[in-house]
Amino acid sequence: SLRNLGNGHGRESALQLFVQAKKRINDIFKDIGDYVVEADTFVRKLVASKPAVGVTETEVISPENAEVVKGFKSKIDGIREVLARDHMKVVFFGRTSNGKSTVINAMLREKILPSGIGHTTHCFIQVEGSDNQEASVLTEDSNLPKSLHSIKELASALSSGKLKENSLIRILWPKNKCRLLREDIIFLDSPGIDVSPDLDEWIDKFCLDADVFVLVANAESTLMQTEKKFFHKVSSRLSKPNVFVLQNRWDVSEMEEEIDKVKQQHIDYNTQFLADELQVVDKREAKDRVFFVSAREALVSRLQNDTGIPTPDRVLLPGFQARLFEFANFENKFEVCISKSAVKTKFEQHTDRGKSITCDLRSVMGQVYTTSNTLQESQQRLRQERADELDFLIKQLDLLTREVKEKIRVMVEDVERKVASALND
Ligand code: GDP
Repeated sequence: SLRNLGNGHGRESALQLFVQAKKRINDIFKDIGDYVVEADTFVRKLVASKPAVGVTETEVISPENAEVVKGFKSKIDGIREVLARDHMKVVFFGRTSNGKSTVINAMLREKILPSGIGHTTHCFIQVEGSDNQEASVLTEDSNLPKSLHSIKELASALSSGKLKENSLIRILWPKNKCRLLREDIIFLDSPGIDVSPDLDEWIDKFCLDADVFVLVANAESTLMQTEKKFFHKVSSRLSKPNVFVLQNRWDVSEMEEEIDKVKQQHIDYNTQFLADELQVVDKREAKDRVFFVSAREALVSRLQNDTGIPTPDRVLLPGFQARLFEFANFENKFEVCISKSAVKTKFEQHTDRGKSITCDLRSVMGQVYTTSNTLQESQQRLRQERADELDFLIKQLDLLTREVKEKIRVMVEDVERKVASALND
C-alpha cells in the first residue's frame, strides 16, 4: 500500500556500500597489521642475532630502520581505531519549527527527538546507534551515559536550562530498533539557525566531518538569508558539500491556490541557490536535491504502519501519496549520496596511508634483502678465497713432503751404502 512507502525493507540498502567497504578496509588493515607484526619480530631477531665471523662491521638492518618498522605497528593500530569510529554523518539545519526533528524521527521511524513548539533548545542533539538494548543519553560534562526512559524525560532535560549553549547531547539508541543506525548513520539535529548566531563555531565544532547537510525549509516561505548564509559559510570550509533541501510542510502548502506555480518558483529558486550561488551541483543534478515533503505525514504513517493498523484518513491530507513517495525518494537519493561520499572522504585517507605504510615497509625489507644478499656474496667470496689458499697450502705441503721423503730416502741409501762399505772393510 502507498501508506507503507519508504520503509526501507525488502531491498538492498545503498548504505551497504559504506558498511561493506568499512568491513573490507578493516580486514585489509588487519592483514597489514599482521604483516607488520611479522616483519617487526623478524627485524628484532635480526638485530639481536650475532653477526657472522668476519662481517662485524656490516649490519643487515640499521637501528633506525628497525625503529621505523616498530613504528608502523602503532600507526596501523591508530588507523584501525579511527576506522572503528568512522560513520556516515548527516546534519540537519533550518529555522526553528521548520520540522527538523520531525524529519529525523520520520527517517528513524520512531519518535526519538522531542518536537513541537516549546522544545527549542540551544544544543545540538546527535542520535547514534548503540549495541545496548536500552536507550541512553550522554552529555558533554560526563562520560557516563544516563538511561533514557522516555521522550518526555529527554524533553525536560533539554529544557531544564542547565545545558551549555552549543553543547552536544548524544542519544545512544539501540541499533536493533533502527536500520539507519544499524547501517552506521549518525543524525545531528541543530538548534534553529535563527536562534544561535554563532555559525562559524557551529561549523568548526560539528560540521567538518559531515557527509551530507539537509536543509529543512518551510515550503510556506522562500529560503531565508540566514539559511543561505549558513551554507555559504559551510561551502567556504568544505569543498563541494552535499546539500539536500527539503521543502517541508508541503501538506499545508498544497492546499493553497496556484500551487504548481509556487512549486516551480521553489524549484527555480533552490536550483539557482544550489547550482549558481553555492555551485555544489550542476543545474541538472539540482532537481535530485530538492524535495517537496511532509515530515509530519511521513512520521505518522510510518509509526502507524509499524503497529499494523492502517493510518486513519483524517491524519493524512489529500494528495498524501505523492508526498510519501517524495519522502521515500528523498531517502533513496540521500542514502546513495551519503554512502558514496563517506566511502570517498573517510576511506580515501586511510587507503592512502595504508598504501604508504606498505610501500615504506616494502622498501625497508627490500634494503634488508639487498644487504643480506651483498653480505652473502662477500661471505662466499671469502670462503672461496680461503679454499684457494688452503688448496695452495696443501699442494705446497704435498711438494714439501715429497721433497723431504726423497731427501730421507737418499740419506738412508747413503747411510746404508756407508754402513755396507764399512762392514766390508
Ligand atoms: P524543529 O524545531 O525544526 O525541530 O521542528 P519540529 O520538528 O519540532 O516541528 C515543529 C512543529 O511543526 C511540530 O508541531 C510538528 O508536528 C510540525 N510539523 C513538522 N513537519 C510538518 C509538516 O510537514 N507538516 C505539518 N503540517 N506540520 C509539521
